Amino acid sequence: MQILDGKAVSEARRAQIKTRAEKLHKALGRRPGLAVILVGEDPASHVYVANKIKACHEVGIESFEHRLSDKTTANQLKITIASLNENPMVDGILMQLPLPKHLNSDEAISWISPKKDADCLTPENLGHLWSGKPITSPCTPTGVMVILEHYKIPVAGRNAVVVGRSNIVGKPMAHLLTSADATVTVCHSKTKNLSAELQRADIAVIAAGRPEMLGKGDFKKDAVVIDVGIHRKPPGPDGKSKLCGDVRLKELDGIISAGTPVPGGVGPMTITMLLENTVRLAELYGK
Ligand code: NDP
Repeated sequence: MQILDGKAVSEARRAQIKTRAEKLHKALGRRPGLAVILVGEDPASHVYVANKIKACHEVGIESFEHRLSDKTTANQLKITIASLNENPMVDGILMQLPLPKHLNSDEAISWISPKKDADCLTPENLGHLWSGKPITSPCTPTGVMVILEHYKIPVAGRNAVVVGRSNIVGKPMAHLLTSADATVTVCHSKTKNLSAELQRADIAVIAAGRPEMLGKGDFKKDAVVIDVGIHRKPPGPDGKSKLCGDVRLKELDGIISAGTPVPGGVGPMTITMLLENTVRLAELYGK
């Protein structure tokens, strides 16, 4: 089984992003800027945001942090987003999801200007994507496509199965695979026989959010398995807690042809595509 190393693919891509950010710095007289909004105290979200901010600095993107309390009202969040929409130093806005339960994510996403939508979540940018003329592209699914491209894994004419149909991962993943001429099946919690669907997959993208749910017996020989899931396991006897995905990858050695590890697979690519979207927005609209 070939390990598809998202970290290495990411590093190569980030070197290109750094060059583009340097060009923008010269052209605009400022660095491209990403504003990160984090509402509430979710520990995983704090880790993700810290990683995104670190990655920004490494490629020469300025970051602007907006940490808001979990008591933030919809109106306060709307005002924060409106001010970032107007701020000429900010090219991209990332609102870390999930938001606390009292806030409506779809409504909050709609407040972000499509010209600053670094995650490609606004209805307008999704419309551009769906009509085949993307301005930015959803970070995690695009990261998956970049991994497939990097490792020269053919997609056209192959059977792809996507497990999960969220707006952030599953749906846009199915769209990108369809656009790349795969024949795509989308599975979800109501799918009757998931294993049977997966047995037909030349390429399987797993984004169910269920720790280590799939393994030996679920995939056909020589399939390519991309694991989007990311979970923190309870601490072991040494007190340390490890990350895992939706797939028990070790069991698949000798069965599948290639797979992404967790950590070090799709995760780094998601951040890289966020950086790439930010630079793209600065190139298109930056002043
Ligand atoms: P959601 O919870 O929004 O969606 C999960 C999807 O999986 C739903 O469509 C659900 O079906 C489906 N599903 C759940 N259980 C099953 C099952 N037993 N069989 C088949 N389908 C099932 O999650 P996200 O899409 O936001 O994220 C998925 C995973 O990816 C999570 O682990 C998340 O942490 C991770 N993630 C990782 C990223 C990275 O950078 N590596 C980035 C984003 C997410 P239904 O629609 O019927 O409920």
